[in-house]
Amino acid sequence: MEIYLDNAATTKPCEPAVSACFYNMVEQYGNPSSLHSAGVKAEAAVTEARKAIAAALVCSPECITFTSGATESNNIIIFGAAERFGKRKKKIVISALEHPSVAAPVKHLEDMGFTVVRVKPGRSGEIDAEEFCAAVDENTFFASCMLVNNETGAIMPVRRIFSRIKREYPDCMTHCDAVQGFMKIPVKASDLCADFITVSGHKVHAIKGAGAMYIKKGVRIPPHTFGGGQEKDMRPGTESVPLIAAFGAAVRAMMPTMSSAHENAEYLSSYLIEKLNKLDYITVNSIAENRSPYIVNFSVEGIRSEIMLHYLESRNIFVSSGSACSKGAHSSVLSAMGISDKLADSALRVSLSRTSTKGEIDILLSAIADGRSQLAKVK
Ligand code: PMP
Repeated sequence: MEIYLDNAATTKPCEPAVSACFYNMVEQYGNPSSLHSAGVKAEAAVTEARKAIAAALVCSPECITFTSGATESNNIIIFGAAERFGKRKKKIVISALEHPSVAAPVKHLEDMGFTVVRVKPGRSGEIDAEEFCAAVDENTFFASCMLVNNETGAIMPVRRIFSRIKREYPDCMTHCDAVQGFMKIPVKASDLCADFITVSGHKVHAIKGAGAMYIKKGVRIPPHTFGGGQEKDMRPGTESVPLIAAFGAAVRAMMPTMSSAHENAEYLSSYLIEKLNKLDYITVNSIAENRSPYIVNFSVEGIRSEIMLHYLESRNIFVSSGSACSKGAHSSVLSAMGISDKLADSALRVSLSRTSTKGEIDILLSAIADGRSQLAKVK
């Protein structure tokens, strides 16, 4: 039996997503731009998916643009905002916890001459709203803060930060990478006071290669690719109808059970943390007061992350070392939290899905205990 606990990296596509994908490959394979009925049906599939994502974000479907994923969405927004709003104002404020798909394009802008302030989290991995807002001034044209950190699960006070920025500096654009919060905690576009929000299909039981961005009504940024005018010119290129339809189907299927799934994740992560806290060789790094129950990060004293990860893999249990995107590289998130290199080097991330069970957590816990005693001996 395989125990997959790396759901922050990607999730298993759900049955409605796979069926929608298959149907839109095999039966309904038209190009949404074609004028004949095959095209009209494909266009209708994209429209339905757009409505599903909009319903989940509680916004108008017009505000949703499909992309290939959150990385592309974040890049389009950051470079588009810099081109449109960064002519006179030159400052960008982001959290020091951002995913590389935000941090790297912002670093590129810094190399081009923009000023970047990276607001550090406290020891619990949360960003202090006051501190973030204090970094924003009249020269700031872009502020970005993620909703849920992908390594620790800490939830950031995005609404508090963005509402204050909008009150004090209404011209400053606000962007939220909501990838790890979407379909797990409520993400209502208007509540976040964000001009831009990004989400990804494969994190919510859809398929890799489809994502979306929310752009608030009335906000305009220039595109960075040009072509056939699809997605209102913001992301030209023939739409990947199968992947987009799968994204819509997954979101539609998950919506009615979001709160019961959250309760299950809350129960499982509390149980896991309670058991881990009883082991003297474990340090739990997910200690934010406000945190997503889907992610638990902890360090196993004296055993490097990759060694324990592969031991668990040998027992058919899949977890991650820090962030999967950094392929085992030193975690900048844990460092920013002030966690020692030693603890960061032995950090593991367990990320749950709505199908995770207590039985799986029990098997994980006994495998960690076995792994620790065997690997400590080898050392
Ligand atoms: N932002 C966050 C917080 C993420 O966790 C990820 C996925 N690791 C991304 C952005 C990138 O998403 P995608 O894989 O859709 O490009």
